[in-house]
Amino acid sequence: MARDPNCVFCKIVAGEIPAKKVYEDDLVVAFHDINPRTPVHILIVPKEHIVSANDATEAHRDALGQLFIAARQVAESTGVAKTGYRLLVNNGPHAGQEVMHLHMHLFGGQPLGPMVMPR
Ligand code: AMP
Repeated sequence: MARDPNCVFCKIVAGEIPAKKVYEDDLVVAFHDINPRTPVHILIVPKEHIVSANDATEAHRDALGQLFIAARQVAESTGVAKTGYRLLVNNGPHAGQEVMHLHMHLFGGQPLGPMVMPR
């Protein structure tokens, strides 16, 4: 499984730095964002180091599909499945991607406003 020794999310996957994990299986891990923007703000991360959606290949099919399975379980366990939530993947500079290890944000716990910033 590809890994970047300098990547903060690879270090969380390896247990080298702490995270408040809420879900884990053989392909993905989910943990609380360190700087939550909403009452529920969870990051769901493939264990394999994939830089961004630009790097997704057929080889990542299982891990990428598992992000959504994990998201469903996290939505249920954090209590937002019925009230609603937003899944977001930032890719590259215009999206403001800060951590170059593909990850899905799960936002919830309050009304989330418009999908993108108004022009
Ligand atoms: P993005 O802008 O989509 O790349 O989002 C990266 C997210 O990772 C931000 O919301 C950060 O607050 C979050 N983050 C960065 N480092 C950590 C960490 N060590 N533990 C949990 N969340 C982190």
